[in-house]
Amino acid sequence: MKICILTIGNELMSGRTADTNSSFIAREINLQGWQVEAMMSVGDKFDSIKSRLNYLLALTDVVICTGGLGPTADDITTAAIAQAFGLPLYTDETVLQAIKDRFAKYNLRWVENNAKQAMFPQGAEIIANPIGTAAGFALRVKEKLIFVIPGVPYETQRMMPEGVIPILRRYFPQPDQYSAKQTIKTFGLSEAAVDDRLKDIDFAARGVNVGFYPVFPENHVVLISRHKTQEEAQRNLQKTQDEVAVRLQDCIFSYGEKTLEEVIAGLLTEKKLTIAVAESCTGGLITNRLTDVSGSSDYLERGLVTYSNESKISMLGVPAEIIEKHGAVSEETARLMAEGVRKLSGADLGLSSTGIAGPTGGSKEKPVGTVYLALADSKQTVCRHYTFRWDRKRNKHVFSEVALIILKDYLQGKG
Ligand code: ATP
Ligand code: MG
Repeated sequence: MKICILTIGNELMSGRTADTNSSFIAREINLQGWQVEAMMSVGDKFDSIKSRLNYLLALTDVVICTGGLGPTADDITTAAIAQAFGLPLYTDETVLQAIKDRFAKYNLRWVENNAKQAMFPQGAEIIANPIGTAAGFALRVKEKLIFVIPGVPYETQRMMPEGVIPILRRYFPQPDQYSAKQTIKTFGLSEAAVDDRLKDIDFAARGVNVGFYPVFPENHVVLISRHKTQEEAQRNLQKTQDEVAVRLQDCIFSYGEKTLEEVIAGLLTEKKLTIAVAESCTGGLITNRLTDVSGSSDYLERGLVTYSNESKISMLGVPAEIIEKHGAVSEETARLMAEGVRKLSGADLGLSSTGIAGPTGGSKEKPVGTVYLALADSKQTVCRHYTFRWDRKRNKHVFSEVALIILKDYLQGKG
């Protein structure tokens, strides 16, 4: 069974919005073991929507559409699809009431335009939207299946697994196959290097599909095992996972969906340790990431952004002579920043960053992308030095990632 994706919206045509829905939907479809045949985007225009939809339906059995379900005049997806198949529109009273209730709950003034979002082509199966006003729908026409869900990415991301996949499964069941899935998150290897390290594993022989997903600056490996019984699927997944683990061991930070920040949260909590952060080139990003985890106040004591030399001297106690002699971007400064923030805060650990994110500020000895990251406890301070080659934003991101990896390794006794 093959599937096409049609994303709809003028903002996609003007380039103001990047089409992230297509890639999200494609991943979800691949995880189910189905294939995407083609992806296409069109503007909010009656004729384009109708003609592209017909074109895609000729290629496959299923078309999944996103966008243009809003209440305003430029949102015409539902009307265009109804017209394409000569179907009348009707108002679903349950959906209408749900939209009115939502308006009442959030104290919004009701405007009649919103009733448009309760209109569906005759024969549509409604797909509930648990987080927005625009419900989606599935439509069976001419032996084909069309899905329409809202364009807002987080609504697409909820409604694909919760609404679309179950309906697809109903029409295209796979009763003789069970699947088991594992995500393995790595940092420190390029996608090609990960692929190279795994090239001697015969995934097909185990009935396991392997996917590589770069999520900058990490690389995630997704294993999906399909077999006649759940036990067999699970057993083959485990065997394959063990083989992958041996080859990527030094670079794996998480099995499953846990983020690096969540892994660290678990380790700090387990070891009952607190941490304070002093950041220069990362501008608060390390602290920001640590606070992405609910309950982080249990272990994060403080995060300081000490950007100027003056603030490193007055707030962290780094001696002016050290900065003078070695520079603000140096191992000596990074160490003293980590030790300084630890002492100042009374936390168990001090973590610091100092570097050059670019694109200006580099020199021959310290090119753009240079970073020093230090971690201090009561006995010792470790400092690592790297040079990356990305643009400013990605350099900052990868600096914060390495700082968190250093912290994780320390907590796992690999420091
Ligand atoms: P709503 O009820 O919120 O109006 P909608 O179905 O009409 O939903 P759109 O108006 O098309 O959705 O888009 C809503 C938001 O989602 C816009 O900010 C748009 O830029 C974004 N968006 C739309 N399509 C995509 C897409 N394919 N990928 C990423 N973002 C998208
Ligand atoms: Mg739109």
